[in-house]
Amino acid sequence: MRHQIWSSGGGVQSAAVAALICKGDIAPPDLAVIVDTEREMSTTWKYMDEVIVPALSKVGVTLHRVPKSLYATVDLMGGKEGNDILIPAFTTQSGEPGKLPTFCSNEWKSRVARRWAVDQGVKEGTFWMGFSIDELRRVKVVSGKWQNRFPLIEKRLNRNDCIALVERMGWPTPPRSSCWMCPNHNHDEWQWIKENAPEDFKKAADFEQQIRIIDPDLWLSDTGKLITESDYSQPDDLLSFCKSGECFV
Ligand code: SF4
Repeated sequence: MRHQIWSSGGGVQSAAVAALICKGDIAPPDLAVIVDTEREMSTTWKYMDEVIVPALSKVGVTLHRVPKSLYATVDLMGGKEGNDILIPAFTTQSGEPGKLPTFCSNEWKSRVARRWAVDQGVKEGTFWMGFSIDELRRVKVVSGKWQNRFPLIEKRLNRNDCIALVERMGWPTPPRSSCWMCPNHNHDEWQWIKENAPEDFKKAADFEQQIRIIDPDLWLSDTGKLITESDYSQPDDLLSFCKSGECFV
């Protein structure tokens, strides 16, 4: 039997998937999971605990929150020698800011969700991903034991449609989900975190100091300065998502 597994990212699009399930517009999944990277924005959990989890439980769906440390084999560092940083940090090693590859999303989310599913007895699964139609470039169709399904794309919903759908449910507008220290945040998002989630911003600032002990050329944003010393009033063109596809949805 192939199980249907909704892998919630905890953001706007995931709230829209929850709305579709609650309205009966799509059949509920066999399993629903949200992986806790243990660095997720506090605003995500507040919204999940106050809005999404209670709404889903009314229609019989349990959203399992799985701490990544239960299943991940790596945390911040990985690679063959264990000395590669797994987040897409900026580096000024060559002068101009460049960006490291993203391994964290796969290690902390995708692999953790699959290992958790196996522990639930799943042998073959289709993971639902909350990409909206404006995110077609993120879609990766895979075949084999683990496949993907895209309920919002099936319904032709874009991000604004998702927000409207959630608001029609009477739910507050969902916050964007991400790790508080994610280098994929654009300037607007750093400014928002600074103003609206100061404790998360402080954790990110401390984290940036820690990674700079490992490598003094590393930064969390593209300014080449500490996030506490950066001016985020000017927009940038950074795309705030990760290609592997489970973050920021
Ligand atoms: S939100 Fe950012 S730091 Fe967190 S897992 Fe995704 S890409 Fe990595």
